[in-house]
Amino acid sequence: MVDFLTKEQRSFNMSHIRNKNTRPEIFVRSIVHRMGYRYTLHRKDLPGNPDMVLARHHKIIFVHGCFWHMHKCRYGKVKPATNAKFWQTKREGNVDRDKRNLRKLRKNRWKVLIVWECQTRHIEKLTENLHKFLTS
Ligand SMILES: [Zn+2]
Repeated sequence: MVDFLTKEQRSFNMSHIRNKNTRPEIFVRSIVHRMGYRYTLHRKDLPGNPDMVLARHHKIIFVHGCFWHMHKCRYGKVKPATNAKFWQTKREGNVDRDKRNLRKLRKNRWKVLIVWECQTRHIEKLTENLHKFLTS
């Protein structure tokens, strides 16, 4: 995968990549909210501080950045030209942690949906997936 960002763009992206309340996250929230569901944000008492917790339905939604959580899409496969090793280690650590958190949550019978950042580009499909998950 070619690294197509300039150094400035990249450092900007990296510095913003881990923030809560990212654009994809806010987008997913607005859809779920419009469907009439209410949720709690970033609950600290649950593994991974899930982005959205629908306690009454015992369901959880994570919105993952493709780069940061190494999605199998083209955004997840971007290899930074600088500090490649550092980012690789960090991202692999995230993936491991994601797996552990998911296991813990499922053990406690939480139903978990992971929405990838790239999926928020297709509104209809995303809405359909969210609807399916929330009504199942
Ligand atoms: Zn992706």
